[in-house]
Amino acid sequence: MNIELNNTRSDTKPGQHSHTSTGVITSASNEPTTASNFIRHIIDHDNQSGKWGQRVETRFPPEPNGYLHIGHAKSIYVNFGIARNYGGVCHLRFDDTNPEKEDVEYVNSIIDAVRWLGFDWHKDGREHLYFASDYYDKLYAFAELLIRRGKAYVDSQNTEQIRTTRGTLTEPGTPSPYRSRSPEKNLALFHRMRAGEFSEGEHVLRAKIDMGSPNINMRDPVIYRIRFTNHYRTGNTWCVYPMYDYAHCISDALENITHSLCTLEFENHRPLYQWFLAELADAGVLTHPLPQQIEFSRLNLTYVITSKRKLLQLVEEKHVDGWDDPRMPTIVGLRRRGFTPESIRLMCERTGLTKINSWIDFELLEAALREDLDEKPPRVIAVLDPLKLIIDNYPKDCEEICSAPVHPRHPDRGIRTFPFSRELWIEREDFNENPPKGYFRLFQGNRVRLRYGFVVECTSIEKDDHNHILAVHCNYFPDSKSGTQGSNHYKIKGNIHWVSVPHAYRAEVRLYDRLFKEPQPDAGGRNFLEALNPNAKRVVTAYLEPGAQKFLPEDRAQFERHGYFVADRVNSVPGQPVFNRIVSLRSSWMKPKS
Ligand code: ATP
Ligand code: MG
Repeated sequence: MNIELNNTRSDTKPGQHSHTSTGVITSASNEPTTASNFIRHIIDHDNQSGKWGQRVETRFPPEPNGYLHIGHAKSIYVNFGIARNYGGVCHLRFDDTNPEKEDVEYVNSIIDAVRWLGFDWHKDGREHLYFASDYYDKLYAFAELLIRRGKAYVDSQNTEQIRTTRGTLTEPGTPSPYRSRSPEKNLALFHRMRAGEFSEGEHVLRAKIDMGSPNINMRDPVIYRIRFTNHYRTGNTWCVYPMYDYAHCISDALENITHSLCTLEFENHRPLYQWFLAELADAGVLTHPLPQQIEFSRLNLTYVITSKRKLLQLVEEKHVDGWDDPRMPTIVGLRRRGFTPESIRLMCERTGLTKINSWIDFELLEAALREDLDEKPPRVIAVLDPLKLIIDNYPKDCEEICSAPVHPRHPDRGIRTFPFSRELWIEREDFNENPPKGYFRLFQGNRVRLRYGFVVECTSIEKDDHNHILAVHCNYFPDSKSGTQGSNHYKIKGNIHWVSVPHAYRAEVRLYDRLFKEPQPDAGGRNFLEALNPNAKRVVTAYLEPGAQKFLPEDRAQFERHGYFVADRVNSVPGQPVFNRIVSLRSSWMKPKS
C-alpha cells in the first residue's frame, strides 16, 4: 500500500524534516484532505478488506478546559471532514476526566465553535455528542477487571518516587515494591480509594506492563489517581479519576470509533492505546476489531500561538481583551475578527495531511480569507484618516446622488447610492503638500477624480498655527460626473475616495494587525510576551458612506482601497455598528530580513 504524501513516509518521526531552511511552508500544498492522503489510504484499505464493513466513525475529543483555537480547527476539519467524505459520522466527545480545569462554559463554546465551522455530529436522526465522564462507571469496572486479571496494581509510592523510578530514555525503570501485591489486596485498596478513605497522592492505580520497556509510556503508567475535586458534571460522586491514556482509548472503543485520528505527540502512546484495548478484549468486555489510532502532524501557524496555557495567560494578564478578542487565534476570536468558516476550512484543506511537523505561513490563511471574501461582501467607501475637502464652486445646501456598484464584478447585485455635497472627507494621505515625483493624487494645482463623482482641482489649503492642514479647497467641473456623457474626456490619473461630510456615518473602526511581531513567538522556550505587537490594535473614528450604518453584527464589507471589515458582533448596536478590520487588501506585512 502506498502511504506517501508530500514526499513524506508515514514512518517519519516528528522533527526530522523541514520544508524550507526555516521550516515554514509558504505555498499551499496540492493535497486536500478530499484528495488522496495517508489517512484516506488506510481507510480505503480497511473498506476494501471489509474490516469495519464500510463504516467510518471518527471523533473530535476536546478537553473542556479552554476555548478552541485555529489548531483545533484543523483537527475538527480532519475528523469531521473525513467522516463526512466517507458518509460516516464524527463524534463530538468531551474528554473531561480532569476535574480541576473543566467547565460547562468551555463545553458550550466548543459546541458553538464546531457548529460555526460548519460541522455536525448527527447522523440518521441520532446525536453523537458524548462525555468521557459518562463512562466513569464502565472505566472503573474495567479497572477492577484489570486488577483481577493481574494487569493493574495499587502503588503506594508517592508521586516523586513514581517519577524517579520510571527510569530515563537510556535506563529502564525500577519496579515498585508494591508491584507484586495480590489482586485481592489491590482490589480492596482500590475500593477504599474510591470510598474516599485515602488522601490525594497516597495511592494510585497503575497498569502492570513492563518497567523495562524502551517506551517510557509502557512503564506501568498511572491509570487512576485520587482527587477530591468537584467535577463540573459528576459533582463529588467520584474521588478517583482516570488518566487520559486509559480513558481515551476505552471511550473510543465504547463509541465504536473506527479510526482515532490524533496529533503526532501521541505516537509514543499508541502502544499503550493498543495494550489497554487488547487486554480488555482478552477479558471479553471489548470486541474486535478495535479502533485504530492514526497520527498526523499538528498545525503550527506563524505569528500565532496555539498553546491553551499561553492563550490563557494572554487573557488573564490582560494583554488582550478576552478569549474573543479579535487578535486572538481562538475560534471565537477569529469569528469576531471577521474570518469566515469557509476560509478556515480552505486553509485546512490546502495544508493537507502529513506526518511531519512544520510551520504554515500565516499568509496562507490570509490568502484563503481574501479569496473567500473577494467574491462576497459588498463594497463600501470609508475614510479612515479624514481630511476635509471644500468645493468652493459647489453651491451651499445642495446635494446630489452618486452611485457605485455593490460589487464591481457582479452587476446583477445592483448599485448603491450616496450623496455628494460641498464638503467631503477624503483620506489624509490622498493629499500631499510636497508631492514626490509620480504622485497622482491631490496637491495644489492638480486634478483628481473623486471616485464615482466629479473631477476637482485643488486651489488652496487651510492651515492652523502649527502648520497642520485643516482643509483643502478645490473647484469642481460640473460636466465631469462619473457615468454622465462626456465625463470621460477628462483624462485624470488620480482617483480618490470620499464621503460627504453632512451625510457620512461616523463610526468606530478598529484596525487590527497580527498579535505577534515574530513568526515563531514561542520558539525555543522564548518568552512569547516579548514578541507581542504593540500596534496590533488601533482604534480610529472613521467616516463611512451612509449605507454602512445599516450593517448588522457580522455583516462584512470591502472598504474600497483599505481591506475587508466586519461589523463587530459584540459591540455593534442597531444603527450604530462598530467595525473591525479583518484583513487588508494585500499583504503589507514586512517579512523580517533573513
Ligand atoms: P491540552 O491537552 O494541552 O489542554 P490540546 O491543544 O491538546 O491542549 P485538546 O482539547 O486536548 O487540547 O485538543 C483536542 C484535539 O485537538 C486533540 O485531538 C488534539 O490533538 C487536537 N489539536 C490540538 N491542537 C492542535 C493543532 N495545533 N493542530 C491539530 N490538532 C490539534
Ligand atoms: Mg490534549
